[in-house]
Amino acid sequence: MDFCKKCGSIMIPIKQDDGGSFLKCRSCGAKINKPAINYKIKESVKKSKDIAVIEKDTIVLPTTEKDCPKCDHGRAYWWLQQTRSADEPPTQFFRCVKCNYTWREYK
Ligand SMILES: [Zn+2]
Ligand SMILES: [Zn+2]
Repeated sequence: MDFCKKCGSIMIPIKQDDGGSFLKCRSCGAKINKPAINYKIKESVKKSKDIAVIEKDTIVLPTTEKDCPKCDHGRAYWWLQQTRSADEPPTQFFRCVKCNYTWREYK
């Protein structure tokens, strides 16, 4: 997670058509031209859901107190991902630390 040097808000990774990416501040619009994502995220389509899957052992994600909808475990990894257009807020994903169930929440 990167934070804006100007205002301290969360920087959003924005992908460009040429494959490059940069970070943009949600609040003040400041940009940083460095690779935004240092861990691999790959989209996988399972059944009717499309949930991003982070490849194992590539990064240690932060955890938060969150009840898993599957096994009721109270702690989950979380991350933000830009899934729609760059103008919209990123989607928050959670992954249960116990059963690895992954789900998303729209803000
Ligand atoms: Zn800012
Ligand atoms: Zn679980």
